[in-house]
Amino acid sequence: MEENTRNNNIKEVMKKTIKYLKGIGEVREKLFHRLGIYNIEDLVSYFPRDYEDRNNIKKINELQDDEKCAFEGQISSRVTEHRPKRGFTISKLVIKDETGSITASWFNQPYIKNVFKPGEKYIFFGKIARKFNSIEIQNPIYEKAGEDKFKNMCRIVPVYPSTMDLSQNVIRAAVRSAMDAVGSNVEESLPPSIKEKYKLPEINYAYSNIHFPISFEDFKNARYRLVFEELFFMQIGLLSLKATLTNEHKGIKFNKDDDRMDAFIKALPFSLTCAQENVFCEIKNDMESNKVMNRLVQGDVGSGKTVVAALALYKAVLSGYQGALMVPTEILAGQHYITMSKLFKGFGVNVALLTGSKTAKEKRETIGKLKKGEIQILIGTHALLEDKVEFNSLGLVVTDEQHRFGVRQRAVLSKKGNDPDVLVMTATPIPRTLALILYGDLDISIINELPPGRKPIKTYAVDNGMRQRIYDFIRKKVKEGRQIYMVCPLVEESEEISARSANELAGTIAENDFKDMRVGLVHGKMKPKDKEAIMGDFVKGNLDILVSTTVIEVGVNVPNATVMVVENSERFGLSQLHQLRGRVGRGEEESFCILFNEGKGAVAKERMKVMEKTNDGFVISEKDLELRGPGEFFGTRQHGLPELKIANLYKDMEILKIAQEAAINIITEDPKLSSDENIRIKMAVKEKFEGKIEGLSFL
Ligand code: ADP
Ligand code: MG
Repeated sequence: MEENTRNNNIKEVMKKTIKYLKGIGEVREKLFHRLGIYNIEDLVSYFPRDYEDRNNIKKINELQDDEKCAFEGQISSRVTEHRPKRGFTISKLVIKDETGSITASWFNQPYIKNVFKPGEKYIFFGKIARKFNSIEIQNPIYEKAGEDKFKNMCRIVPVYPSTMDLSQNVIRAAVRSAMDAVGSNVEESLPPSIKEKYKLPEINYAYSNIHFPISFEDFKNARYRLVFEELFFMQIGLLSLKATLTNEHKGIKFNKDDDRMDAFIKALPFSLTCAQENVFCEIKNDMESNKVMNRLVQGDVGSGKTVVAALALYKAVLSGYQGALMVPTEILAGQHYITMSKLFKGFGVNVALLTGSKTAKEKRETIGKLKKGEIQILIGTHALLEDKVEFNSLGLVVTDEQHRFGVRQRAVLSKKGNDPDVLVMTATPIPRTLALILYGDLDISIINELPPGRKPIKTYAVDNGMRQRIYDFIRKKVKEGRQIYMVCPLVEESEEISARSANELAGTIAENDFKDMRVGLVHGKMKPKDKEAIMGDFVKGNLDILVSTTVIEVGVNVPNATVMVVENSERFGLSQLHQLRGRVGRGEEESFCILFNEGKGAVAKERMKVMEKTNDGFVISEKDLELRGPGEFFGTRQHGLPELKIANLYKDMEILKIAQEAAINIITEDPKLSSDENIRIKMAVKEKFEGKIEGLSFL
């Protein structure tokens, strides 16, 4: 009973708006809103981005050049003022202790002269500059020494993410009042067994020490607990989603394979790799069971995911169902349509294409046939998601290059059937721990082998000084009958960004360097019809050089293209460069990737080295993660997961592993989180995920 009242009280306190806090008026309230802070709870969970160690009070002679330090000293002069220019004041002051003296100066803070009186003792904090015989400090912050309770001195002080308009002191004061209001009444959200097993400190200790740590040791413990908690709940949420998707809905039980499948596999233009066979086997098991399949197929570029999709689609068709294949671009949809039509020729399967650029009449016809069940496999872009697209009996949904689609979009397509099986294909290989977060709602299959006979693509990072030699090389390759891609980061010239644009490059080379060759241009701002026409020309071999933006990044297959040139490679993520490179090396001929790189820093150089050294997508994505952080994978937020407030998926990989293990154990033992212990977890996850992820209905 008592516990209940306290819990209700703390909930009320957490939801109080910040304007009740001392020092927050209307103006500041608005500024806090801009940081996403509306109530006490927002403030309490607004975590610092850094800390300043003002704990260690030094003697003046111990102050190190270029370091931020705190020291105590006595004012030994009056404030002197200089006005080197109009509207510009410098106030100076000499401070001393028994070891030496230091000059402090403040710019444009004329009130300083009224603050300090000779003989008084203060604590200062700021960046130290040592020059010849003097020590200086500029714009230091200060507090009077000897006060009982230092607010911002003699302690580790948090530094919050902020905008210019809200000073650190204002944010700190607001957080402190919020923490005072909350007291030590924050409800524990982790069950005791988890806290004990993973040696996690208590929640109130964690909040208190993440904001105002007593020591760095305490900060570390506090952060560990909060990171663990965040990742743990995220993982529980995803695992629960998966459990709901697979268990609560009865899936279609597809027939076991018969000789028609064998005949189809025999008729393929190649034999499957072991990896393809294994992955198809995993898919088959899912499809033949009455669970709803939710499977991710990861495979490096060129590993042969398309044919695996074709096998699964055929399996659905053989059981009397329809299949859908959704891809992110028109070009890719067109190519898959051609590939699938060829594979299914003579197998009595009707394959159709639906994209935004089809005429209204064509669309109507396709949709009509689809509804009647006359089309068995529908390939298309986002156009498949439109309301009017209705299936007769959708049994399998495949999305290719899934990082372009979110959880939501997949769900929309799935709703067009009666709990169809779902297969997601991606060419962005990511470390397993991350896959569990990004695709935590999916089972994972990996095609870890390339079809035989692939030669690694020779990759060279060069600078502009090499341009003439590269152009000579391109000329030679075109003479040999090969085709060339040249990719630019921009469509048009831009005043803000200095990088090559596709427009400009295509114009220049068509008029000068390669005027005797057939040069085409394709980019995302073109009409789909025009894009398709140009791509079509390139596929047919009617163009020698295709200048483009990253629209050709995904999936396109032109085996005769053997040289990939990327302009301003420094502007692309490594995984993206790897994708682009994957456009070549698809045929018998030796292939090359030339990366023009304008990036000067050490990281830029290292990134290019990685590309030169390895063709392995997994290695590249790990490196990308290390060098650029997980922003690359999580930047767009289109996957629809709640944002992480404190955990860093790269730096906290170790904690992630442990939290994952904990989450998996709990969900395995108590899938519905219904034990007394786990109810708290359920409530916490519910709060975090509700409304954010479709289909999460277990709660
Ligand atoms: P991705 O995994 O990048 O989507 P694709 O499915 O486009 O790769 O396959 C790349 C190329 O490899 C295609 O030309 C395809 O026909 C070919 N391919 C796929 N599987 C095999 C195989 N087992 N043996 C030989 N070639 C294959
Ligand atoms: Mg593909």
